[in-house]
Amino acid sequence: MRVTALAGGVGGARFLRGLLAALRASPDPARRDAVVTVVSNTADDVTLHGLRVCPDLDSVMYTLGGGIDEQRGWGRSQETSGVADELAAYGQEPTWFTLGDKDIATHLVRTRMLREGRTLSEATAELCRRWRPGVRLLPMTDDVVETHVDLAPVPEAERAAHDGEPGGRRVHFQEWWVRLHAAVPALALEPVGAADARPAPGVLEAVAGADVVVLPPSNPVVSIGTVLAVPGVREALRATAAPVVGVSPVIGGAPVRGMADACLAAIGVPTTAGAVAGLYADFLDGWLVAEDDAEQARAAAAASAPGLVVRGRPLLMSDPRATAELAGAALDLAAELAGRERAA
Ligand code: GDP
Ligand code: CA
Repeated sequence: MRVTALAGGVGGARFLRGLLAALRASPDPARRDAVVTVVSNTADDVTLHGLRVCPDLDSVMYTLGGGIDEQRGWGRSQETSGVADELAAYGQEPTWFTLGDKDIATHLVRTRMLREGRTLSEATAELCRRWRPGVRLLPMTDDVVETHVDLAPVPEAERAAHDGEPGGRRVHFQEWWVRLHAAVPALALEPVGAADARPAPGVLEAVAGADVVVLPPSNPVVSIGTVLAVPGVREALRATAAPVVGVSPVIGGAPVRGMADACLAAIGVPTTAGAVAGLYADFLDGWLVAEDDAEQARAAAAASAPGLVVRGRPLLMSDPRATAELAGAALDLAAELAGRERAA
């Protein structure tokens, strides 16, 4: 059995850990031996102090490899900030992005390999030789794609509340997300470079050759949306024979964690489980939503995604067991949809 997932950072990684747990604990030998490929968002990537930082790739790698800081949900466990403190003492900007000492080693390995002419896929494989995440971890592309954000102008009186930001300019996604906490409205989000990017080796094959494709509850705009913006990925999802099953990142009209509502607002999409499914309407077969959202999501899907099967399930990844159950529900829905397809 081949399972392929498209994923962002923290939410994606958490779900993937549950997915691996559900597969490994399954009584079904096909699930137990399943090979999982993860296509990671790289549009959050940023160059800081000369280092190439890939937050979503690293969140998945550290989480599945046992190196994550469990409290924060990102970064290395038992981390220190000696280098960041020294950089701040030199007055070197930016100071708003946390780079831990151990984490910097990861970025050094990757940056050196990229400078030597290796691809991001190759650098990721090299880092995964240490972490053994238990999945084949692929960047969505080896080309540089970075989400940039057009900030709304910030009225003079409100600037102090937003770190002095005047707005009315374009910034890297990380500056909007981390420094401004997405509290300054975004007029537009653009995955710069996506239109000319090529899927990384193995990405399209992983979608085409999958038995199941899963969309974890990752940010629909700046995690999943950016993977879909790489030419060929969306077409592969439409064409694959595998059922495509997703998990809503929105419960009861709000993202579970983070500021995904600010991203949805920027593209004019309401923060509801049904509206998020609408973003995937052309390829999505099954959609897991919170029990209380099922009615709304079904009604929305009837208009935007006829044929979509919506199921209400406990959607909170509150602990490893709940997360594994959620992932198991996604696999079960996929199996059910594949069975229907065969019967038809
Ligand atoms: P990021 O790259 O670190 O922002 O992580 P992702 O894009 O992979 O995931 C972020 C999304 O995960 C957010 O939009 C959250 O709403 C969603 N999320 C976080 N925790 C949960 C949870 O327990 N259940 C569900 N359904 N979604 C969650
Ligand atoms: Ca991310």
